[in-house]
Amino acid sequence: MAPALRQAVSAWNQKEAGLVGTAAVIVGKALAAAAVRGSNAMVRAGLVSPEDRKYIGPAIVAGLPATLLGGYVANRVAQRYLNSGEELTPKKEEALIRASGVHKDTPVGVADDSDDAYFEPTGPLGEIRLGQNMSHPATLAHELGHASIHQGGGLSRVNQSWLRPLSFLPSAIAAGSVGPAAGLAWGPAAGLGLGALAGVVAGAPTLINEWQASSRAKDTLKALGPTPAQTKANHRDLHSAFGTYLTGAALPAAAIGLGAGLFKHFSKGSS
Ligand SMILES: [Zn+2]
Repeated sequence: MAPALRQAVSAWNQKEAGLVGTAAVIVGKALAAAAVRGSNAMVRAGLVSPEDRKYIGPAIVAGLPATLLGGYVANRVAQRYLNSGEELTPKKEEALIRASGVHKDTPVGVADDSDDAYFEPTGPLGEIRLGQNMSHPATLAHELGHASIHQGGGLSRVNQSWLRPLSFLPSAIAAGSVGPAAGLAWGPAAGLGLGALAGVVAGAPTLINEWQASSRAKDTLKALGPTPAQTKANHRDLHSAFGTYLTGAALPAAAIGLGAGLFKHFSKGSS
């Protein structure tokens, strides 16, 4: 869950800070260049007036740390709920695999990062990896949901394997164009709201895929004969994990849209 941020944090822990820093500078420069090109294209397309162009770059620069901070907070909040479920015993693991309908030989391994859990779509079965702190029935059931989508084929698998990874592109475009264009045209609130909406639309492949995996997980978890309290805790785990994806989808375009609107508002007020 939210593996990119956790990997970045654990990279610092592993004394690879220099490497991460260098990568951040390279990515930052590439983003700045993309922002200049993007803002020129937006002016040409009539989405942004020439005199508003100067607000786009600063909004993107300010929006990125805001996005990282917001993503971090969302993850911390979700993490408070993630350990609410019961422990995963080998017997429960077996029962969940059977109930999920995935192939009985679907491998369940250990993730390098103890706070991580993910599904690797390698080979016909794929592979589930659970970190030590993520060894809970709800987490396994969710990853089994991804495995059953992978093994089931069809449009859901196309979405999981292709549309979802490719959706970073429309998401980046939404963040860099819809957010600031709305913020500059109609003010900070519009930048925030329309940016968030555009981010959610662009991130739909991820959100649909995560929702599908969790709704399959809810069915799978019934196999353990949970008490109503356990069901409630499991669903809270799944919903808070989904919340991190929702935040991740909405935040970049919302933050940049808000920033563009605010920069314009305050620079007009002071001039
Ligand atoms: Zn997932």
